[in-house]
Amino acid sequence: MEYHPDVNKEPGATEKFKEISAAYEVLSDDKKRALYDRYGEDGMKSAVGGQAGSYTTNPFDLFEAFFGPSMGGFPGMDGSGFGMPRRSTVTKGEDLRYDMTLEFSAAIFGTEKEFELSHLETCEVCDGTGAKVGSKMRICSTCGGRGQVMRTEQTPFGMFSQVSVCPNCGGNGEMISEFCRKCSGAGRIRVKKDIKVKIPPGVSKGSILRVAGEGDAGPKGGPPGDLYVYLDIEEIPEIQREGINLSSTVSISYLDAILGTIVKAKTVEGTTELQIPPGTQPGDVLVLARKGAPKLNRPSIRGDHLFTIKVSIPKRVSTKERELLEELASLVNTPVNRTKTRPKVQQPAQTTESESGSITQKPDESEVQNDLWKQLKDFAGSVANGALKWFKDNL
Ligand SMILES: [Zn+2]
Ligand SMILES: [Zn+2]
Repeated sequence: MEYHPDVNKEPGATEKFKEISAAYEVLSDDKKRALYDRYGEDGMKSAVGGQAGSYTTNPFDLFEAFFGPSMGGFPGMDGSGFGMPRRSTVTKGEDLRYDMTLEFSAAIFGTEKEFELSHLETCEVCDGTGAKVGSKMRICSTCGGRGQVMRTEQTPFGMFSQVSVCPNCGGNGEMISEFCRKCSGAGRIRVKKDIKVKIPPGVSKGSILRVAGEGDAGPKGGPPGDLYVYLDIEEIPEIQREGINLSSTVSISYLDAILGTIVKAKTVEGTTELQIPPGTQPGDVLVLARKGAPKLNRPSIRGDHLFTIKVSIPKRVSTKERELLEELASLVNTPVNRTKTRPKVQQPAQTTESESGSITQKPDESEVQNDLWKQLKDFAGSVANGALKWFKDNL
């Protein structure tokens, strides 16, 4: 600092400063120092020259770099090892993503899956170096083995120097003279590998499984990244899943709702019989406890399967059905109920006419009607009697 031209205005100070700067440059660089020790000033000229002119060093810039206000910005001061080839730097490989779709029940009960993964592995012939075994490395001609280059630029604010990784050797300071034949110098080979993963019970859409060490191998023998398996779950029409609980809708006829019945219901453990108690209301929820999904990582906790009851009321009924229903209606019509008008009941002739006129109704409607009629027939007398008895008992 004593000889910096800004400080020292005495004649010859600038020359002295240039000398000091040159000495600094040589001493701070092992390679240059070796060249200087061996060849003196000539060695320095050959090392600096012939680099397209852009990597030359201006003594004032160097000064700025060593003593300037932004000392933290200088790589040599922040421990990143300016001037030292970065051969020891180990880079971890890339993490990989694999998307997998699971069947509905596999997500609930867990499963094992095997799939083929394409990832990079360290070349076992060269151990990831990329060099032919036994071949010699040569010093990078661009950076002279430093691994870094200094670029000096003239800007409106003055000369600026910037240290960056050598574009030729990528910071290694040396180049491969003979490439490994197996990996062509890449140090890594793309390999297809069968990966087996154990899917725990209770996973859901968006669950991510980490498979350690199955990502890409790091460059130059670096450790591999991890593999992340992103799960999607197939949906099925019969059962919906909300967390650990499952839900379904069960449709029953109005007669079954009144009388009670047993229906077959699909659960994740197969078809089971679901008891519909007499007097079930539309929207009632029947619960099969612990037939839901297990809690992830705590499979002893299991959700329920909820069945929401939908009661179907026919839009049309047959003449015979109508007769039975009207008989039923007259039975349950208490004085309180009679205050409510029942237009269709009070005009039976009209309704019957329209009923007979509707024989050529749409096929889906007649199907419904047949189905309903069959149900009525199945229950035969017991339906009517049972229904009547039930009404008498309950109303
Ligand atoms: Zn190799
Ligand atoms: Zn280089």
